[in-house]
Amino acid sequence: MNKLIPKLQKLTQNLWWTWKPEVRTIFRDLDLELYHKAHQNPMSVLKLIQPDQLEQRAADVDIPARVDRALRQLNEYLTPVTTWGLTHAGALGSRPIAYFCMEFGIHESLPIYSGGLGILAGDHLKAASDLGVPLVGVGLLYHEGYTSQVLNTDLWQQDVVEPFDIADLPMVHAVDRFGAPVQVSVELPGRLVHAAVLEVQVGRIRLILLDTRVKQNDPKDVSLTARLYGGDQRMRIEQELLLGVGGARALRALGINASVFHLNEGHSAFALLERARHRIQADGMEPRLALQEVAAAAVFTTHTPVEAGHDRFPADLAAEHLGPLAEGLKLPLDEVLGLGRVNPHDHGSAFLPTVLALKLSRRANAVSALHGVVSRKMWNHLFPGLREEAVPIGHVTNGVHLPTWLSTEMNHLYEAHLGVAYQGALTRPDTWAKIMDVSSAELWETKQVLKARTIRFIRERQAQTRARLGLPEIDPAPLDPDALTIGFARRFVPYKRPDLLFTDLDRLDRLVNHPDRPVNLVFSGRAHPADNTGKALIQKVARLLEDPRFRHRIVFLENYNIRVGRLLYQGIDAWLNNPQRPLEACGTSGMKVVLNGGLHISIRDGWWAEAYNGHNGFAIGTGETHANQAIQDQRDAEDLFRLLEEEVVPMYYENRNSVGIPRCWVDRMKQSIRTLAWRFNADRMVQNYVDQLYLPAAVGSSCQMPPP
Ligand SMILES: *Cc1c(COP(=O)(O)O)cnc(C)c1O
Repeated sequence: MNKLIPKLQKLTQNLWWTWKPEVRTIFRDLDLELYHKAHQNPMSVLKLIQPDQLEQRAADVDIPARVDRALRQLNEYLTPVTTWGLTHAGALGSRPIAYFCMEFGIHESLPIYSGGLGILAGDHLKAASDLGVPLVGVGLLYHEGYTSQVLNTDLWQQDVVEPFDIADLPMVHAVDRFGAPVQVSVELPGRLVHAAVLEVQVGRIRLILLDTRVKQNDPKDVSLTARLYGGDQRMRIEQELLLGVGGARALRALGINASVFHLNEGHSAFALLERARHRIQADGMEPRLALQEVAAAAVFTTHTPVEAGHDRFPADLAAEHLGPLAEGLKLPLDEVLGLGRVNPHDHGSAFLPTVLALKLSRRANAVSALHGVVSRKMWNHLFPGLREEAVPIGHVTNGVHLPTWLSTEMNHLYEAHLGVAYQGALTRPDTWAKIMDVSSAELWETKQVLKARTIRFIRERQAQTRARLGLPEIDPAPLDPDALTIGFARRFVPYKRPDLLFTDLDRLDRLVNHPDRPVNLVFSGRAHPADNTGKALIQKVARLLEDPRFRHRIVFLENYNIRVGRLLYQGIDAWLNNPQRPLEACGTSGMKVVLNGGLHISIRDGWWAEAYNGHNGFAIGTGETHANQAIQDQRDAEDLFRLLEEEVVPMYYENRNSVGIPRCWVDRMKQSIRTLAWRFNADRMVQNYVDQLYLPAAVGSSCQMPPP
């Protein structure tokens, strides 16, 4: 027993457990209730559990043997004989990719993400780890963590700050080669701001996080890393300087000699200026040459398909903040500011980190094929003289980290039919072709197990919400477990149109309350704390909780996060995505659903524009767009209703075999898995980044490449 606790602690130290269900269940089996109270965080479970209970439970559920097995697996994982990265990215040698991002979504217990961008970054680190690609993540540690979403009796989103303790996370101070904790500082107007450098281990990958809670800082600067996307423009530019400049300095202080800087979204663009500044100061390089060299070794990924969505700092705010960098770069301040202006000679105009990133990265990419087209058009004016097709922004379509999002049950099914080692060959079409040989009964029944679990979870949550809001209990409980269940969960913003189905409540009533073919709808999502338009959308959807026509068929689940998401993606029959085209740069939630045997119902936008083939899910509309948005909304609502009424619902209920399995639906599940799983996973995404962007950029980086 005395040896067990240190072993359990050892398992908690590497976030590898976040994608190892068999490790997570060790902690869950110690105490189910405690596990959920502790936000599924193994370290908190160990802290909270009574020693005698630990001893008792450990013996009951074979914990010691399971722990030994997990530790051995972890050890093997960390010391691989060979990996994809060794074979394909060996040229990077000891010079990793530095991957900068404002947020990282790795697990619900590490609250430094807000949504899709962060989850994507988390999935990128995990896949890089699995593939053995040398990469270091660089981000900020938001010490106030999240707000959690609670509806009040007006069904208005309240944002409750949920403090968290970094002592509950496997976070350590990063140390230099002498073992001393590293701290960095960044010049901000009138002061020097300091940041501690912490790190967490994500499998084989280090994630470095800057935290301004250090003694030397003014309290105002301590709050610089309090919250993600909080505060005003000034706070935002200072956070971005901290991430970019501080992050680049942290890498140097740790002796990490990065080959390529990959900026995941423009927030970290200042890292490129800092990298050039250092070449000029430390190596005496000529300023413009240094900028060229930095650009050659930079990769920039843009995620925002509308210009208004990009950060845009007023000229004077940028001027106030960029003085020290300009001085270090030995360039006139106005020239440095010009790097962030659409037109460098337009002196009073705004400074856009995205523009800086585009000008200072030789390689840039969008996150789906369609988003590539949109981005080239949007930024064409930055490249006068180039035709739209020639604008140097390519695309790498996003993918999701399979082990993070896949249910244990589907994993078992895949292991049994695709081969036990299928996770090592995720990107091969022939791996997934074998899904066609799985019996329909087995696939369908597996899905029913997942669905039952998800519906149970939703009902429990819904009952709690209703009780808190003083709404009457519903009997029978909401959501008929045999009904087609469609999910919609994402950030609530107008362009995603969470209310598209509510444009015709009578038609919605007929759809969901059909006597023989009922439909359940599950909504979840948050609005940014400062976004009242988004909160009004939530209120509009949540109102149906009170409506006797809908309250047993339509639910709104509070507090969408990684955990709620995981349960929905795994247990839902179909996933609805109805954004205004082409505003969804990629979208990834639908990919998580597909892996778990759900079908995607989507506008032909983002990844679906390149993924849909006519029989691997459902497409709403034709992909044409009307210039008048109101008309477009109307058309899309009509197309969506018709698709549901005439295709989706009949396919789910009709053509059932003697044991009640819907043949066409299950066939479509197989087509969906066969044609989509190999393409839209994070291994394929990271492999594309390595082959198309990292390796070419690394050749352009200054230092000699080691021999292959
Ligand atoms: C996958 C995911 C997202 C992103 O999904 P989109 O389809 O891009 O909206 C957001 N939040 C959570 C919790 C997720 O798991």
